Amino acid sequence: MTDAPLLDVTDLRTTFDTESGELVAVDGIDFTVERGETVCLVGESGSGKTVTVESLTGLIDQPPGRITGSVRFKGKELTDLPPAELRTHRGASIAHVFQNPQDALNHCYTVGWQLIEAIRVHEDVTKAEARARAIDLLSTVGIPDPAGRIDEYPHQFSGGEKQRVMIAMALVTEPDLLVADEPTTALDVTIQAGILQLLDDLKAEYGMGVLFVTHDLATVSEIADRMVVLYAGEVMERGTVLDVFQRPAHPYTRRLLACLPGWGDGPAGEVETRGGIAGSLPDPTDLPDGCRFAARCSHAVSACSAGDQPPEIDLTDGHSVSCIHYEAGDDPSVLPATGDAETPVSDGSSAGDDPDSTRRGVIEDE
Ligand code: SF4
Repeated sequence: MTDAPLLDVTDLRTTFDTESGELVAVDGIDFTVERGETVCLVGESGSGKTVTVESLTGLIDQPPGRITGSVRFKGKELTDLPPAELRTHRGASIAHVFQNPQDALNHCYTVGWQLIEAIRVHEDVTKAEARARAIDLLSTVGIPDPAGRIDEYPHQFSGGEKQRVMIAMALVTEPDLLVADEPTTALDVTIQAGILQLLDDLKAEYGMGVLFVTHDLATVSEIADRMVVLYAGEVMERGTVLDVFQRPAHPYTRRLLACLPGWGDGPAGEVETRGGIAGSLPDPTDLPDGCRFAARCSHAVSACSAGDQPPEIDLTDGHSVSCIHYEAGDDPSVLPATGDAETPVSDGSSAGDDPDSTRRGVIEDE
């Protein structure tokens, strides 16, 4: 028995060799996932969240990618494993659910055939036993009349049902960790809640940890225990969902929350005006000095653009922030309202005060 986290990521850095030079997608981030908890990586497109999860289990080709740092899973270092052993680990203990079930299922074969094949790759069972297990899995993920529908083709399933089938595929090995990368983004809003509830139920039933990637803070509030806010490959803020939503510290987190309909009525809403986020992420092949968010930050001071990304400061009980305005133990809800006389800093390419471009800057889908 070990007290080590289920997943322990330390100083993970993922870069790519490109014609424009080294592209830094993930720049030395840390986080953990425990059994029975859901941790959300959240940020806008290009923040590094998908590359982060793909870096964990060898889904990034090296080269052109280069991954450094430590990824410990159940106490075992994954970055040292040869590719074949890593694939075995990934298949048996870590399962992925991707954004678009349409692309993940083979439309030439029945859903049952695909599930039975997946089961027989991992288990030494007869076809009849695998078929019985496949029906059981379809039932577990809420497919009605699973015995009757197992011989149907993917096109006979709705979008939400296809995603449930993909979740059934992920459960074949009874994984310890489920990595879900925007699993509800391609679905109608009316069926997203059902999928989120299903993942939550399965987490409890299987005792899994869940690492959930999303750009949608409403989804974070529904499913996560803890959240890690990423921006340009760096962690800007982390904490329990309750604490970060009630007392967001980082200007970026505050702007993300201000994009949420209905947010702003409570105490936390007083810290930031409603609207999108003007400007865009920095060029990952030419990252700026200092805080990566400085060009878009209305609280920036000249010191923000010098040195490295500010270190993460512990505020309270696992709530931490990367911003020069905070010191250890500070109240997350107190942040200077404006920058100094030289600010706000502008990169010249951002939308500035143009209200139209501000609206365009609202966090967008991957
Ligand atoms: S105030 Fe400075 S350090 Fe803090 S988020 Fe803004 S630019 Fe970054």
